[in-house]
Amino acid sequence: MTIRLVFGRPLPGTVGETRRVVHVFEAPTGDEVPERLTALCGLSFGAGELERLDALRGMPCESCLHRTPTPDPELIDGVAEPRR
Ligand SMILES: [Zn+2]
Repeated sequence: MTIRLVFGRPLPGTVGETRRVVHVFEAPTGDEVPERLTALCGLSFGAGELERLDALRGMPCESCLHRTPTPDPELIDGVAEPRR
């Protein structure tokens, strides 16, 4: 089974700048937008607290990285070309 992952970090002003690391989330399934998203590391974010990122860039959350099922080194390096 494929798990779709999305990346997000806290919006500026919601936490200290040093805590604005990029967390990894399992993409919600279904049509409903959940009230809260819980990162793989266990931190939970509500609406308006997250900046969604298209790729993993910036400082990653190490706890999330350790829990990511199959880390893609290309994405972590930020040099990946879109797959065709
Ligand atoms: Zn995290």
